[in-house]
Amino acid sequence: MPIYRAPLEDYRFLLHDFFEVARRGDLPEFTELSAETIDDVLANAGRFCEEVLRPLNQSGDAEGCHFENGVVRTPKGFREAYKAFAEAGWSGLGAPAQFGGSDLPGFLTLLVNEMMQSANQSFAMYPALSMAAYSALAASGAPWMKQHVVPRMVSGEWTGTMCLTEPHCGTDLRLMKTRAVEQDDGTYRMSGTKIFISGGEHDLADNIIHMVIAKIPDESGKIRDDLSMVNFFMVPKYIVKEDGRVGARNGVFCGGIEHKMGIRANATCVLNFEEAVAWRVGPKPASAQGEKRSSSGGMKGMFAMMNAARLGVGVQGIAIAEVAQQNARAWVHERRAGRALTGAQDPDASADPIIVHPDIRRMLLHARAFVEGARAVAVWTALNMAIAHSARPERETAELLADLMTPVIKAFFTDMGFECANLAMQCYGGHGYISDNGVEQFVRDGRINQIYEGANGVQAMDLVGRKLGRKGGAAPLALFDTINRFISDNADDAGLAPFVKPVQTGLGELQGATLWLAQHGLANPNDAGAGAVDYLRLMGIVVVGWMWARMAKLALARLANAPANAALYREKLISARYWMERMMPECATLRARVEAGSATLMAFEAQ
Ligand SMILES: Cc1cc2nc3c(=O)[nH]c(=O)nc-3n(C[C@H](O)[C@H](O)[C@H](O)COP(=O)(O)OP(=O)(O)OC[C@H]3O[C@@H](n4cnc5c(N)ncnc54)[C@H](O)[C@@H]3O)c2cc1C
Repeated sequence: MPIYRAPLEDYRFLLHDFFEVARRGDLPEFTELSAETIDDVLANAGRFCEEVLRPLNQSGDAEGCHFENGVVRTPKGFREAYKAFAEAGWSGLGAPAQFGGSDLPGFLTLLVNEMMQSANQSFAMYPALSMAAYSALAASGAPWMKQHVVPRMVSGEWTGTMCLTEPHCGTDLRLMKTRAVEQDDGTYRMSGTKIFISGGEHDLADNIIHMVIAKIPDESGKIRDDLSMVNFFMVPKYIVKEDGRVGARNGVFCGGIEHKMGIRANATCVLNFEEAVAWRVGPKPASAQGEKRSSSGGMKGMFAMMNAARLGVGVQGIAIAEVAQQNARAWVHERRAGRALTGAQDPDASADPIIVHPDIRRMLLHARAFVEGARAVAVWTALNMAIAHSARPERETAELLADLMTPVIKAFFTDMGFECANLAMQCYGGHGYISDNGVEQFVRDGRINQIYEGANGVQAMDLVGRKLGRKGGAAPLALFDTINRFISDNADDAGLAPFVKPVQTGLGELQGATLWLAQHGLANPNDAGAGAVDYLRLMGIVVVGWMWARMAKLALARLANAPANAALYREKLISARYWMERMMPECATLRARVEAGSATLMAFEAQ
């Protein structure tokens, strides 16, 4: 069975040594936060993931979910694990205390989520989607929803879903057909079909709160392919009255579950809405005759939910790379084949362990450098989100940076997560392709992360088409400025040059590509579309590189004082050097690809 060890040592390095989070008492939710509390939360969550969730990962994958007469059963052990999860209070870790949550900062939820996703992605998705759903309700729901529904989701008594996708549309939600018609009592009746709904039906909780987007027809009863008709609704499986009492079964039914490549223990459901009672979330849309409807304020809640979910999916990329490389690392010390190129390392044995081979080390280090660099970027982004909600003068910049990083984290981290899982499998040779060893499951599970929550190509379009140009390019300028400051502050430090110089070169490529897109993308949008995926990867590599240069600086400073945990800092320097030597050179290639434009792609006869 695959192993998993919560990476607590790296968390401690990152949170206490590098970001010094316990010293940020001026930020909301950080006032009472001590290093001991942080370590306790992470250690307890880590134990739960290692001891309860991990042992169910392979068996859950083999068994899958069961569907019979509209009822979904999760694999053996999932119900008990979910009960233990909810009873321990993990479902409300980041929720405000007013809803019964622990009110802990976003970076802690992020790391706990990472451990859960490493240990058992299928299981972790049930509560992860609930958290996204209750956050939207807590932000935009009516007072009675906040009083009676949100606390029951926070406690884990009920779960939640996000229902966007329909059979004919996942990316282009303008085309959706699900409709919600207003009733005299202010509720709506919803009809339509949503597909691919994660956790849409299951046996883990008593009620499921579906957060659904649907169109409100115009005065003539028609719907158009127009996003302005789309509104955000709450549709409970069992009706919840405004006084909190739970009523009859609602008209939302599971029509089946998908058989799929990975995350087989997570129920991916067809949901049929048959005149289901729905409550609009957010203010009432304009409805006067002749007045063009605009999306309701509830859509803001939905976008907040989707952004939170995107970061969560990005973290799944880190998580799958972490667990895959942990297993590969164990394997390559046991498996023997060939001899070290410089002479036998273990002459008494018939062959050396395969860790002696440079190529095996390349594959392991690729994952290691990605995981720890990406984790730093993810925590930095969570801290920026906290700063954005504070009174600090830099809050606007922090918001811009967090917003800019959202598609990069979602797409670059999940692409790399899959790449690293695949390399981990390669370390096993043929044994990686065999189910028993469990590493192929990580490849299968990690593949979906590149697709759902907005396919990665669409994330790249969001970055290039929306995020770059917003507010006169304020977000990329803030990023370039932040990295440039680090470069100029450390330009004279010869010991840091192997880290600062590659970041400077990479940033130059990123700035050049940005300028090229600004000059060409507006004149020919196909040029922006053709370069978007390479541009996003370029930005991802540079930001992770900058984070590695900063961590290298800290490691060098610590090593100068011969610390007890010198091995950790030496490993940090090795990972940092790997990123500089092997990833940063890709920047020039990526820029060249961006600047190749779209002519060849558009000349391609695709028939
Ligand atoms: C296991 C699983 C779980 C899921 N869970 C949920 C869930 O809980 N809730 C939910 O609502 N949905 C869920 N989804 C749906 C998922 O979010 C969509 O499948 C995804 O957003 C892509 O939509 P699509 O499949 O319709 O692909 P399409 O929209 O048909 O896109 C196909 C391809 O075309 C590309 N493309 C489309 N439009 C553009 C464009 N404008 N520019 C560039 N490229 C473009 C896409 O990048 C993609 O590569 C899930 C899907 C799966 C498989």
